[in-house]
Amino acid sequence: MLDRVHVAPGRTLGPAPLGDPRLAQRLRREVDGDVLFTRADRGRYATDASIYQVEPGGVVVPCTIEGAAAAMAIAREHGVPVLPRGGGTSQCGQTVNRALVIDCTKHLRHVVEVDEAARTAIVEPGLVLSHLNLALKPYGLFYPWTPAPTPAAPWAA
Ligand SMILES: Cc1cc2nc3c(=O)[nH]c(=O)nc-3n(C[C@H](O)[C@H](O)[C@H](O)COP(=O)(O)OP(=O)(O)OC[C@H]3O[C@@H](n4cnc5c(N)ncnc54)[C@H](O)[C@@H]3O)c2cc1C
Repeated sequence: MLDRVHVAPGRTLGPAPLGDPRLAQRLRREVDGDVLFTRADRGRYATDASIYQVEPGGVVVPCTIEGAAAAMAIAREHGVPVLPRGGGTSQCGQTVNRALVIDCTKHLRHVVEVDEAARTAIVEPGLVLSHLNLALKPYGLFYPWTPAPTPAAPWAA
């Protein structure tokens, strides 16, 4: 689990407090998305495909890229670490920690643009890899990375 670490002169980053009402209130006011801070919500996000179980400080499910950016900025101001989460299929505890979990898989799952000539794509962070490859198929392109849980794993993880 995360220990207290120095991130900049005079500033430290420690484990997120569990269900911090001040942080939750600020996120609800300023972030376009769901702010999940109850014990039940935190319990749902305390587990993934690994053997580890760690309750997060809270969870944000942003509706927009701006919402995700705002959540990260607020976490930074509060000295709380952030932890992006995809399908949660990684097996070494990568998606569980005492952090603010940001779950982009519910709303931020679109292909924004494909540049066929440059063979690049701009995508949102929660886009599932198999959906990216479906969108690339008409161009004769694919993203060459094929882990077994491809139907669940976003492209970035
Ligand atoms: C049955 C099984 C078989 C597997 N087989 C293979 C295999 O054959 N080959 C292989 O390579 N792998 C394999 N894996 C591992 C697989 O690669 C991971 O499960 C997958 O990459 C995790 O993707 P996820 O979206 O579930 O991410 P998560 O598990 O949610 O997160 C994984 C990491 O990515 C980070 N992350 C998540 N989303 C983002 C984002 N949008 N931006 C930045 N960081 C992000 C998280 O913080 C975390 O550190 C297998 C897993 C399982 C369960």
